[in-house]
Amino acid sequence: MREYLKFYIDGQWVDPIEPKTTNIINPATEEVSGTISLGSVADVEKAVAAARKAFSSWSKTSREERLKVLLAIQAEYERRQQELGEAITEEMGAPSALGNGFHVGLGSGHLATAIEVLKTFEFETLRGATLTVKEPIGVCALITPWNWPMNQIAVKVFPALATGCTMILKPPQLAPYSAQILAEIIHAAGVPAGVFNMVQGSGSVIGTALSTHPEVDMISFTGSESVGVEIAKNAAPGVKRVCQELGGKSAHIVLDDANLAQNVAAAAGGMMVNSGQTCSAGSRLLVPLSRMDEAIAAARQGAEGVTVGDPKSNVAMGPVVSKGQYNDIQRYIELGLSEGAKLVVGGPGRPDGLDKGYYVKPTVFVTTNDTTIGREEIFGPVLVMIGYDDIDHAVEIANDSPFGLAGYVVGADAAQCNAVARQLRTGWVSINGGFDFNAAFGGYKKSGNGREWGEFGFHEYLETKSLLGYAPAPAAG
Ligand code: NAD
Repeated sequence: MREYLKFYIDGQWVDPIEPKTTNIINPATEEVSGTISLGSVADVEKAVAAARKAFSSWSKTSREERLKVLLAIQAEYERRQQELGEAITEEMGAPSALGNGFHVGLGSGHLATAIEVLKTFEFETLRGATLTVKEPIGVCALITPWNWPMNQIAVKVFPALATGCTMILKPPQLAPYSAQILAEIIHAAGVPAGVFNMVQGSGSVIGTALSTHPEVDMISFTGSESVGVEIAKNAAPGVKRVCQELGGKSAHIVLDDANLAQNVAAAAGGMMVNSGQTCSAGSRLLVPLSRMDEAIAAARQGAEGVTVGDPKSNVAMGPVVSKGQYNDIQRYIELGLSEGAKLVVGGPGRPDGLDKGYYVKPTVFVTTNDTTIGREEIFGPVLVMIGYDDIDHAVEIANDSPFGLAGYVVGADAAQCNAVARQLRTGWVSINGGFDFNAAFGGYKKSGNGREWGEFGFHEYLETKSLLGYAPAPAAG
């Protein structure tokens, strides 16, 4: 049983000012796996004051000093990878291989990327007599979701540290363990007091206190659209920068010259990774209408190949994160049936033989783009397949969405893939499986306004200052 009752404020593990706890449920067993403290506004006050105090010195550190700190974090992170993976499996149900693999690996990938970017990032550029200086924005509130808990924290905390900002992390209440371990890693690495602070608790209390706090300069939020809007409204009177990384309903376009059976089966299996709880999931699979029968057979095969069960065993898919999430997904599956979508595989209820735990059947529907299940983010292992007439129609369907986070294009003709990818109104498009830690990640439209990952993530934490008539120092010698 885990017990994490202290917060990390001003370089120390401290008790909450007003003691209050909550139990954390293991989604695989529906049993209590541990207890955390829930913070109050008073804890936020303390954490923000510590971050404000630390900003005056941390913001003036050199690139080399910050690199040293990030390298120390990297050494600690590598040492505790196994623990992080186990915590992620326990808190949100990722299968061990995924937790220890991709979940923890994304964290270390973003850390290594931040280190590399910091080595050469241009904080100053001189053009004529104008010096443009990139300065840390100040005290940052980092509010993260539970679905890829370490990834979401890594893409905020490491660039914020690298750019000289100080911060208060508010991890998700449903998945607080990996964040707690990361705070231990940061402490062990010797990050100066007050630079990184962490307060656990609810969004309504801690999140609101951070979003409205006059001493918070910037908020980086990843989560749902409704909460993103509420944070922006709360932050507006203080004219804070608010970076939003929100939901998606991304199109995965299988072009006619692709190996259809292979790509559709892989896309159906891929949709089920992390139980479909991925903001950038290719949850709308667009296939040539003329080959829909072939696509249905391949999608069934892909989804049926996904083993579901105890995430500590050798399965491809564990439970979804919570009872609330399970109920939401079931509601969408029922809605798909009542809307007349064709059920290819899966459907309501738990998979056979799994009576306990928030397990959902890998589900595939064929529908049209105007249905609720074709438009809304389900955030579960539910794929919708939609037929298109020709390439222009595929692009039109892909772009006919309130969201614009990601896109996927697969096909044999590289020029055609590139042309389709260029037409998608989304912030991140993977062509034939392309992946890059240095590529900007973020959305168009209701998927948000922020850009994380690589050097693009640094800019979120920087102000731009122009010094006009700047006289460069005379060259030495
Ligand atoms: P959520 O919006 O419910 O919660 C996210 C975080 O916000 C949590 O820490 C929560 O406690 C906090 N919060 C809740 N209410 C708040 C408030 N009023 N003020 C401040 N903070 C508040 O989202 P979730 O259910 O944890 O995550 C799922 C959503 O996140 C999905 O929509 C998914 O698409 C999105 N997401 C987006 C990305 C991206 O990079 N674009 C990545 C992962 C997840």
